[in-house]
Amino acid sequence: MSGQVKKGYARALDIKHGRVDMSHGGGGRAMVQLITELFAKHLSNEYLAQGNDGTCLPQGAGQLVVSTDSHVVSPLFFPGGDIGGLSVHGTVNDVAVMGATPLYLTAGFILEEGFPLADLARIVESMAKAANEAGVKLVAGDTKVVEQGKGDGVFITTTGIGFLPAGIHLSGNLARPGDVLLVSGSVGDHGMAIMSKRENLSFDAPILSDTASLNGLTAAMLASGAAIRVMRDPTRGGLAATINEIAQQSGVGVHLEEAAIPVKPEVEAACELLGLDPLNIANEGKLIAICAAEDAEKLLATMHAHPLGRQAALIGKVVEDPNGFVQMKTKFGGRRMVDWLSGEQLPRIC
Ligand code: MG
Repeated sequence: MSGQVKKGYARALDIKHGRVDMSHGGGGRAMVQLITELFAKHLSNEYLAQGNDGTCLPQGAGQLVVSTDSHVVSPLFFPGGDIGGLSVHGTVNDVAVMGATPLYLTAGFILEEGFPLADLARIVESMAKAANEAGVKLVAGDTKVVEQGKGDGVFITTTGIGFLPAGIHLSGNLARPGDVLLVSGSVGDHGMAIMSKRENLSFDAPILSDTASLNGLTAAMLASGAAIRVMRDPTRGGLAATINEIAQQSGVGVHLEEAAIPVKPEVEAACELLGLDPLNIANEGKLIAICAAEDAEKLLATMHAHPLGRQAALIGKVVEDPNGFVQMKTKFGGRRMVDWLSGEQLPRIC
């Protein structure tokens, strides 16, 4: 057997049956082997191939936009996605909703000793697929291993880098009374996909996470020429938290129309069962946009023409309100406050 072992290297990584062990984070040969045979196999590109302590990247046009996000979702594999794809989508989206073009990603992995290499390979493949689809390259990475029981399989931190073209300025403090609020599609899908898996709920139509990169949609929206003031992805805390954040930042109120907010029937049913409000539930492939009222139709048409914006809807308007209250006209004709929750309602959702 020893004849098959190349000089200086252990035998090939047994991805099918092998498990992460402490040596994979040790900085030695085992770590290099894990990186070359598992990570680089799927994620290689000219930048990662530089192989130095840091990666040199070409300067892009415009301002640099950076965003970072850690992913601790449980379970790691959920209906419609997994932590690998999610760790790309989440960070790409944070850069994209700034109006920037995401180009590069870095990733830090915290692996738990004993984690199956086959699962890790699935996660890395999913990251590679997501990165390819979004047109971003993973340009730097890090792997650490913690003892069994000190982690929970895999945690992934990604940082996204993009460039913001001159003339685009989106910010949470730019909403003005008279503006309108659009959402790109149904809300609550991601959070309820995770919850239904955790709670073993099954519905006629399974709830799938909406996890997706939105940079194609944001590029189309910006190209439409509509006067967009704010874009944001309503992740943790859902639509309610994101709209409240913007109302506070801009010092305005928002009036929502419940009947206009798209919610899938299966998500609505799961929320009812668990006593949750879809407006508080995380999304991972949706955005909200606030734009000038006169451009709403044009922007909505642009969103409808994109696969990730087919169900886009105008769901409310920005009003004068120094208190920054978000209120909603309910389906029954009443009016209620839409508050953000103070605590953590659904832990480890992303
Ligand atoms: Mg965000």
